[in-house]
Order: sequence, then C-alpha cells, then structure tokens
Amino acid sequence: MQELSQVARNIPVSMTLAVSDKAGALKAAGQDVIALAGGDPDFDTPTHITAAAFKAIEQGATHYPSPMKGITPLLEAIALKLEQENQIKVDPRTDVVVTPGGKWALNLALSILLNPGDEVIYFDPFWVSYPSIILLNGGVPVRVQLNSTDNFTITAELIQAHISSKTKAIMVNTPTNPTGRVLTQAEIDVLTAVAVQNDLYVLSDEIYEKLIFDGRRHISPAAQPGMAERTLIVNGFSKAYAMTGWRLGYLAGPGEIMKIAARINGQTISSSATFTMHAAVAALTDPQDCIAAMRDSYQARRDFMVPALNSIEGIECAMIEGAFYLMPCFPNSSKNSMQLADALLDLAGIAGTPGAAFGQAAEGHVRFSIATAMSELERAVERLAQIAHKL
Ligand code: PMP
Ligand code: GLU
Repeated sequence: MQELSQVARNIPVSMTLAVSDKAGALKAAGQDVIALAGGDPDFDTPTHITAAAFKAIEQGATHYPSPMKGITPLLEAIALKLEQENQIKVDPRTDVVVTPGGKWALNLALSILLNPGDEVIYFDPFWVSYPSIILLNGGVPVRVQLNSTDNFTITAELIQAHISSKTKAIMVNTPTNPTGRVLTQAEIDVLTAVAVQNDLYVLSDEIYEKLIFDGRRHISPAAQPGMAERTLIVNGFSKAYAMTGWRLGYLAGPGEIMKIAARINGQTISSSATFTMHAAVAALTDPQDCIAAMRDSYQARRDFMVPALNSIEGIECAMIEGAFYLMPCFPNSSKNSMQLADALLDLAGIAGTPGAAFGQAAEGHVRFSIATAMSELERAVERLAQIAHKL
C-alpha cells in the first residue's frame, strides 16, 4: 500500500479527550472514577436554550441553513455581542462564519492564513490541540515557553526571540487553558505591539471569555489599535453556555478573510447543524444570568479546591484567574506528569490530564478540571490527602 500522509500519521492523540474517554470507559465498567480530565461543564445546557432547539426542529429547521455560513439572526447576534461586549465592530453579513465548535474555527483560520512552512507562534503551556492544528495546515509550530515562576507572563522579549522572516501569526488564548491566566492589558499591549511591528496575524481564542473570576475583565486583542485588520477571533458556546455537545462556535474577522472562510466551509463541512444555530440565538439574546450562575459556581469550587490542595503535604496549586482548570504540581515526587496521572488513577481513582500534554512548561503538573460537581471535588481532595505521600 502507498504511504499515508506523514503529517497526519504523526498527529498525536488529543490527551484531554483520550483521558476523558478512558475515565468514561472505567466508569461504565463500574469503577468509582472521579473524572477531572476533560473541560466539559457538569451543568446541563440551560433549558431556555434547549427549548429553542426543540422549537426550531418542530418548525422545520432540519434542512441546510440559509445562508450556509450561519442563519442571519445568529450572525447578527454575534456581531452585536462583539460590538457591545468586546468593542469590536464587524459586519454580520461579511465578517462572521458559524462553525461546528471553536476547534473548527481555529482549524479554518489557519487553513486560510498559512502557506507551507509559515511559522506560527504559540505559548507553552498551550491547549493540547494548537500544535496539531498548525501542523495539519502546513504550518510550523514555534513554541514560546512561559515561566511558571513568573506566573506564565507574556513578554515582548520572549516573543521577539522567536520571530523570524517566516513568522505569520501568533495564537493566543485568554483566559488560558490550562494555566487559568487572564491576560492583562500590559500583556495584550505587548502582543499588539509585536503583531503590528512585524505585520503578523493574531488568532485570538476567547472561548473562556465568560469564565473570569474576582471581577477581572476580559480584553480582546482585536479591540486594540491596529489589530482589527489582523485579528481573527475564535469563540463559541461550549464553555460559557455549557454546550460542548452541540458543537457550535464561530470565527470573526476581516471580510476578505471571512469570505474565504465561508468558501472553505462550503467545500468541507457545509455548515453547523441548523437547529443548533437557533438555540445559539436564544443563548446570545436571552438574559445572561445562567452564565453568571455557572461562573460563580466555578469560582466557589476554585475557592474550595486551591486551599484544600495546598493544605495537603506534597501538593502545590497556584490560584487561577479564569477558565476552569487547576494545575497542581507534586514537588516531592520524582515521577513525570504521565506517571503522576497514572498513579492518581491507580491509587485514588482520579482521572487528570498529564501536564506534558500541555507542553514542557506544564511538565510535573497534572490538570484537574473544576467543571465538576463540588461533591466530586470534595471526594477527590479526601482521596488525595490519603495517597499524596505515595506519589
Ligand atoms: N480552545 C480552547 C482553549 C479549548 O480549551 C477548547 C476546548 N473545548 C476549544 C478551543 C474548542 O472548544 P469547542 O470546539 O468545544 O468549541
Ligand atoms: N477543551 C477541553 C479540554 O481542554 C475539552 C477537550 C478538548 O476539546 O480538548 O479539556
């Protein structure tokens, strides 16, 4: 048989999904596993959103959507949201495309930006799929390692040191999976200055935008001076509205690029599912109290979990500012993060994602998702207190 694509063959499994699948299989087999691996809210999608989908199905929204890139009320609702909440002005007719999940929006963006060999800068720790999505689109991932002792702060020096004549874009995620950082205005200014000076595109993944604690503020790179024409915004419904299974996100940015995005969607996935778009209109246009309620729960879980983990001998856990992941480390252990995750599953029945999946800067850490019921988090802490000395 002929050789398969080398790039495709070398794409690693998504560790977040693999560990979640493993935990699910163990649970299905009757094992008492506490699943902290995947970032999937334990909340069900709010009922006013599911009701809108049922209604849409009953009213015949079971055909291809029109326009294919997204039904008009959804494109308009997204444009209004971007203007009111993020101070970004986009034309709903030309600058927005609805996608099946934020993940496809990232893929779509890079498929438009990259020629073979173009370099894309991304920050380590990174979300597991970034380097794979760059590679799958012919790009060269260029990793900028951030420093945990510096709270993973992005600096101009760090980025500049990785820029070459081939650099095309920077991928950035705020609030950040897996570190829980929320980028400050100073960091966004650094990013803006470097992007403008070097004529780079910025792919801004804002999927955790709504999950920010302690009254902090989300800052959109696209809203900064000189950035609108070079920033592609990725966002979606998975995290803010507990809609992971709906597979719904969007890409927004300059019309010339979005025109191509609509064409590529048309030649690949066609569209997102029509009735899910009607649910998304309800999500964006109905009262937003559900978001605040879920965010407050995540904050309460963080406030319980971080001190509880730090009170256990052999575990250290940094405070997070946003998203719903903790990244404890185990300073007394000689195990690497893969071995630690295995040991946690074997000894305590706790499924976490090994830090190595998120890059070298996260080695020695295991990521726990706190999009998990408080009762499960309490059980996890009890078990950790019993087995930490064995790690
Ligand atoms: N970006 C980040 C940083 C994520 O953690 C995820 C995981 N859900 C996504 C994008 C994509 O999410 P979805 O495809 O469910 O919209
Ligand atoms: N983004 C989530 C996570 O990091 C969900 C799984 C995935 O899509 O990778 O766990």
